[in-house]
Amino acid sequence: MKCPYCSSEDTRVINSRPADESTAIRRRRECGSCNRRFTTYERAQFEALMVIKRSGRREAFNPDKLLGKLRIACNKRPVTEKQLREFAYGFEDVVQVPEIPSDEIGRKTLQFLRSLDDVAYIRFLSVYRDFDSVDRFIEEIKQLDDTEIETLERKLMR
Ligand SMILES: [Zn+2]
Repeated sequence: MKCPYCSSEDTRVINSRPADESTAIRRRRECGSCNRRFTTYERAQFEALMVIKRSGRREAFNPDKLLGKLRIACNKRPVTEKQLREFAYGFEDVVQVPEIPSDEIGRKTLQFLRSLDDVAYIRFLSVYRDFDSVDRFIEEIKQLDDTEIETLERKLMR
């Protein structure tokens, strides 16, 4: 395990203990080069996250596909590539289920984008293919209050 501070591979475990009700193991590690300490968590993973499509068909979750959609939504917005990669590549770890409906991925992604950037959020609503029915779009907009809609309109018109 490389040191997150100096990237040295000379690190050692100084203690291990169960965490999160034994669903993880927490390890304290120390770097032999810079002497700094850091923590890692080891968790069991399902083999591969499966996505249940609207049609009922299943396919393996593809973080690159999600990242591609996020990039489109966030194009020229004040959002970093790192923020998007963390979300897309960390997605499986965060959901911790063996399978997930595609709509649920859409909802979680919207929550993420809403906390990040309003314009990217609205764009994602319109580009996300499994989530682009007009009714759903309108439902999402309805959940915004008047102030949020005004702010959004101002940003979109810039
Ligand atoms: Zn180090």
